[in-house]
Amino acid sequence: MKKDYYEILGVSRNATKEEIKKAYRELALKYHPDRNKSPDAEEKFKEISEAYAVLSDDEKRAQYDRWGHADFTGRYTRSDIFRDFDFDIFRDFGFSDLGRIFEMFFGREEVGKRAWTYVHPRGADIQQDLEIELKEAAFGSKREIEVERSEVCIACNGSGGKPGGGIKTCPTCRGSGWREYTKHLAFGFTSVRMMCDRCRGRGEIIEIPCPECRGRGRVLRTRKLVVNIPQGVEEGSVLRIAGEGEPGDGGPPGDLYLNIHIRKHPIFERRGNDIFCEVQVSLPQAALGAKILVPTLKGKTKLKIPPGTQSGNVFRLRGLGIPKLGGGKPGDQYVRVQVKVPTSLTEEQKRFLREYERIFGH
Ligand SMILES: [Zn+2]
Ligand SMILES: [Zn+2]
Repeated sequence: MKKDYYEILGVSRNATKEEIKKAYRELALKYHPDRNKSPDAEEKFKEISEAYAVLSDDEKRAQYDRWGHADFTGRYTRSDIFRDFDFDIFRDFGFSDLGRIFEMFFGREEVGKRAWTYVHPRGADIQQDLEIELKEAAFGSKREIEVERSEVCIACNGSGGKPGGGIKTCPTCRGSGWREYTKHLAFGFTSVRMMCDRCRGRGEIIEIPCPECRGRGRVLRTRKLVVNIPQGVEEGSVLRIAGEGEPGDGGPPGDLYLNIHIRKHPIFERRGNDIFCEVQVSLPQAALGAKILVPTLKGKTKLKIPPGTQSGNVFRLRGLGIPKLGGGKPGDQYVRVQVKVPTSLTEEQKRFLREYERIFGH
């Protein structure tokens, strides 16, 4: 009989993820060997789980559709297929004994290791604030930062045991990482597997702690990292630096999250991707019109103000604002003109201004 994952789950070839999950849930509840005592239940359970593992994963499903069943299973072993399976689904379904499921999928020897990486999947994320200049937000930058995090202890290679014999096989579970209990039910009994609480599924315990890390397997270290600040970041943007968080305990490391704060600029105020600034001009410049130098994020540029410019008039410098995060048209710069009123006048200046008033009136 030709096996096809869609047929196994009883769904159409264009079934949605929800439909696939629903179909799998029904079948999993029916065939889980703890509930179904028929001799082929376990094999059936593995078969539907394999079908689900492939069809619930976009990438694997696309390959499966492209290659067909025979080619797909020729390239992927069952172990490969379950490698990044989301085992939490069994918790959602109400199966608490994941040890049994791991054992079904991977075989007994691998159970302890599997369970361990499953329970300690990845390192913790680190959150950290990073203050940057407005210019860096506008044009991006490379920045050296310091991150304090724990790293694997070199002396014991992270085991926490004194190098050369500090580690021994867990006597409670004899290295399997699991403990088996016999549970008496109304009709007979069943055996339940739980993670060994002495070694937490690791199969090994520390007998003599590593003096370097005092058995933690980790040491705290401040590390310098160079991070890329992309152009266009905003106040409150969060940069994720993948893999630079705390190391995993059997799984991959966590991520580093940088909360971006932008230092207040002495001249520019940012609103969205536009920037605003104020420049002062003299009364003659405002009245007669002038070419004035204004500051921009990229240095000074010339701005022509027309004759009769009033205090408070705003001029736009197109495209001199901040580029959009991820590309696209940059914002604009707005320049508000203030007409300077002279202070601390000399006698001659005062005479001149009285003359000005006589000619212009009020
Ligand atoms: Zn150590
Ligand atoms: Zn143990």
